[in-house]
Amino acid sequence: MQDIIQLLPDNIANQIAAGEVIQRPASAVKELLENAVDAGATEIKLLVNDAGKALIQVIDNGKGMSETDARMAFERHATSKISNIDDLFRIKTMGFRGEALASIAAVAQVELKTKRDEDEAGIYLEIENSIVKKQEPVAAATGTSIAMKNLFFNVPARRNFLKSNPSELRHIVDEFIRVAMAFPEIFFSLSSNGQQVFHLEKGTLKQRIVQILGNNYAAKLVSVQERTDYLDISGFVGKPETAKKTRGDQYFFVNNRFIKSAYLNHAVMSAFAAMIPKDSFPMYALFIDLDPAQLDINVHPTKQEIKFEDEKIVYAFVQSAVKHALAQFSITPTLDFELDASIQNMDAVNKPATDEHRSSASSSSLFATFTQKNKAHFIEKRSELTHWKDFYEKPVSVDTPSFTPLEIPLMEKAVIAEAPSPHCTPAQLHAAYIVVQNEKGYLLINQQNAHERILYERFAAAVSGKAIATQQSLFPSTIDLAPADAVLLAELIPDLEQLGYKLEPFGSGTFVINGTPADVEQQNEKMAIEKMLEQYKHFSNDLKFSKREKLLRSLSLQRSVKAGNILSCKEMTALVDELFLCDIPNATPTGKPTYMSFKKDEMDRMFGR
Ligand code: ADP
Ligand code: MG
Repeated sequence: MQDIIQLLPDNIANQIAAGEVIQRPASAVKELLENAVDAGATEIKLLVNDAGKALIQVIDNGKGMSETDARMAFERHATSKISNIDDLFRIKTMGFRGEALASIAAVAQVELKTKRDEDEAGIYLEIENSIVKKQEPVAAATGTSIAMKNLFFNVPARRNFLKSNPSELRHIVDEFIRVAMAFPEIFFSLSSNGQQVFHLEKGTLKQRIVQILGNNYAAKLVSVQERTDYLDISGFVGKPETAKKTRGDQYFFVNNRFIKSAYLNHAVMSAFAAMIPKDSFPMYALFIDLDPAQLDINVHPTKQEIKFEDEKIVYAFVQSAVKHALAQFSITPTLDFELDASIQNMDAVNKPATDEHRSSASSSSLFATFTQKNKAHFIEKRSELTHWKDFYEKPVSVDTPSFTPLEIPLMEKAVIAEAPSPHCTPAQLHAAYIVVQNEKGYLLINQQNAHERILYERFAAAVSGKAIATQQSLFPSTIDLAPADAVLLAELIPDLEQLGYKLEPFGSGTFVINGTPADVEQQNEKMAIEKMLEQYKHFSNDLKFSKREKLLRSLSLQRSVKAGNILSCKEMTALVDELFLCDIPNATPTGKPTYMSFKKDEMDRMFGR
């Protein structure tokens, strides 16, 4: 018999090891940001495309690497941060196991550019499947840029396992915030698909908290500051009135590393006891610093749990430090805690409040979820609408609740229970609304919003899958466009083709329309395209989505059935049925509600039944 045991090739071993360190785009983001911090950077920029699935790039102005180090960095167990076992007990850096870059290089296509101050030229490396594909000198500024493309391109099973873009992006933002919060003396920025989400100027911790969590906290932070021989605690807690109904703005850092600890969270909550309503959550960002020897370093560094040598001491300490801070604040309510004028006037503090910012914020899935106001708005409006009186006094269109993309998926589950009862006849109101009964009461559906949602999902499926059937034009018409519009349209041709529009550029702004989707009337094809372009340009000014996303949104808006159209019973039934087959039936792609739900219980109560 032959021997059967073999050593795994390095790239396979690395791929397997990578699974532990890089579970999703956000894990890579964390590792790369921490490396930049460890390299002593004072400016760190994070760029992601497609929620990190297509690209994660971190650019820092840290100390850079020599040519040999740059090659070495991607080997497993290659680290500059520890050299012997004793170092483990003194560790002050974020990383030390030397696994991150090796893992990243095993599961993505990596491009590294790095230069040290003392070197003339920098070094450029391309690595794929743990193998160096290219190495050459390059002109570069001092620091390091690492771009990882197409995460899990060679591990399809893992790639398929990734969640939707909003969900992965949310994880990325969480990691970004955790690092940015811990290092207010470092400039951080985050752009997603070319749109800037965070731009955090260097400053104090207080300024950083306000930059990240919003202006609402500006004058509402209570400083926590205690020093002992055993450990120090510093940071801020929100004044009791800022406590929220949702957990969220709560951060613990131990030696500047973000940790999760239900135990320490309990310590803070108990300090707040009596001062905030039950079921509400105070904001806190607390930093515990202690001798690394007091921590169990064997806990996996990518995990966020931590083991203290003596947990009880830390608990008691956190609790009393927060109590002490709160007590001081209630004796001297204004003196200590007003932000001084110089801070108030800082751009970074003022910025989140400008209208421009707010509107771009509300269109971004991210910012919106970090402003407390937005959530409160959402909660208020929803509960208001369950009251009939308010409903009649305030027409829905005047003060529409707008859901953020994050909120929309969160509501998905609740929606299933609301689907209309089968075989019930819908009724139309004012040629704009459809009323339909469901198990618990009835739904009031806005026909245009509902149709927008349906079309959006249909079109989205078409661009990434089976194309929509085209009806060939009998007499192809032409369309003449201004140069800028012609450029726009030319870019959209491949996607439009999937959507059933066959267009052919004919030079100098002219396009031939060879076909349109079957449901676009033949004589209207030219107008349909002009209107679509107009809508598309409108979106271009407002929002910075991908071209495809803008196209999908424009088309669904433009093609949706508008108010004023009287619908037949059959049309209404089809619309309602299709709406509830959608992945996200409860809102338009831009976040307007598609329907409101009214409960029979409440009707009964109103009529004293
Ligand atoms: P670890 O951070 O645990 O040491 P990594 O795999 O993350 O392991 O990085 C390996 C080594 O590469 C680091 O120890 C460091 O010397 C170097 N390195 C990584 N990223 C950077 C960076 N942005 N700037 C300078 N050096 C870096
Ligand atoms: Mg590292």
